[in-house]
Amino acid sequence: MLTARRTAWCLLSLFFAFGASPSSAPGHTGPSAPAAAIPHAAAAGEHQDDRAARIDAAVKKLSPIIIEMRHRIHQNPELGNREFETAALVAEYLRSLGIEVQEGVAHTGVVGVLVGGRPGPVVAVRADMDALPVTEDTAYPFKSTVRTTYLGQEVGVSHACGHDIHTAVQLGVASILAELRDELPGTVKLIFQPAEEGAPPGEQGGASLMIAEGVLEDPRPRAIFGLHTGPMQVGTVGLAVGPAYAAVDHFYITISGRQAHGAYPHMSVDPVVMAAQAVTALQTIRSRNLPPLEPSVITIGMIHGGERFNIIPAEVRMEGTVRTYSEFVRNSIEDRMGEILNGVTLAGGGTFELRYDRGSPATINDPELAEMMLPTLRRVLGDENVDNQEPATAGEDFAFFANEVPGFYFSLGMIKPGTTSGGHHTPTFQADDSSIPVGMRAMTSLLFDYLESGAAAR
Ligand SMILES: [Zn+2]
Ligand SMILES: [Zn+2]
Repeated sequence: MLTARRTAWCLLSLFFAFGASPSSAPGHTGPSAPAAAIPHAAAAGEHQDDRAARIDAAVKKLSPIIIEMRHRIHQNPELGNREFETAALVAEYLRSLGIEVQEGVAHTGVVGVLVGGRPGPVVAVRADMDALPVTEDTAYPFKSTVRTTYLGQEVGVSHACGHDIHTAVQLGVASILAELRDELPGTVKLIFQPAEEGAPPGEQGGASLMIAEGVLEDPRPRAIFGLHTGPMQVGTVGLAVGPAYAAVDHFYITISGRQAHGAYPHMSVDPVVMAAQAVTALQTIRSRNLPPLEPSVITIGMIHGGERFNIIPAEVRMEGTVRTYSEFVRNSIEDRMGEILNGVTLAGGGTFELRYDRGSPATINDPELAEMMLPTLRRVLGDENVDNQEPATAGEDFAFFANEVPGFYFSLGMIKPGTTSGGHHTPTFQADDSSIPVGMRAMTSLLFDYLESGAAAR
């Protein structure tokens, strides 16, 4: 198996005018841990109401600063493994909160370790920082006008996947946790990840490289939390328990034959006919080889062959993607692709090459952790605002973390009521500022409740 084909990225010159950091209010000393292992609405006692009130007050106080930081990040987007200024802003801000910071993890990643004032377990939370080669077309006063060269073409750069919101929310979470540090029962590892969308050609990056560089060790978290902007109304969240995002693989097929005049097909070994048979035959993996209730996608997105209408070409190249949720299905598809291509080209007299590159694995929301934490989301946001989502066939490299320790990953509603947004990765994508305080409240509460339950179980 060869390494994954990567898209090209270019270095940006950026100018951040990073200034104000919030004045850190002295931490509160909370009362002792509640007896209940898992807090939820019915069991929420006075202690929890107090904590909720303190979190709400901190969200209210800090949101304007955090939204301002979001605007700065949004106006200065950086592509994967090039998040130099974003990382510097994150590191400086975390230090201003008195948090121990490690920089340069997996190129530009930043990791903060916040040790609470009470003993307890370690938990991690992750935000991604990279932007995309998409030219922004929104009416935001803070819209990005950054341009760069990407794959030899001049393009705009923007946060068209909402990672600016994720980074800002996590800075907000760090601020609140720092304010409530004295009552925090354990340690929170704040992971700011580069290159979620993929590393530049010839480079490694993202979650897998952070793990290889030891981000989940010393101290090792018991669980990891994360969020992503979703096309739902602000104030709502959603998650799929169990498989949530698909494994993302990328394949390359070359079918080779023999070139000939189009009028003399018997002189050729026609790769176009073999490719056409292969395209339809590959769809029988889904319909004939796999159990019908096992989800998967096999898409051929590119097919190239030939230069002229009356010439049978020597080869046809195809590329596509496979999306799966289980290793069994993933392995079966890769195996069957090889067998089918072998059969089709044997029958046609040609040959083939298949390169199958495995990207991020499926993101699984750990069912036990989800059962434990859903009451927190329902308490903080209201039952009616926590949706069960269908698994998405898109991918998310949070999967690498969630393969190591139990993961909890949810969608944060980003559409301001009365407005619309273009899809993720499009020029008109708009994630509203008002999703930031919601994310801060939700994530801070999740981390506190997780640690509290672990502290109570000690
Ligand atoms: Zn994306
Ligand atoms: Zn994204």
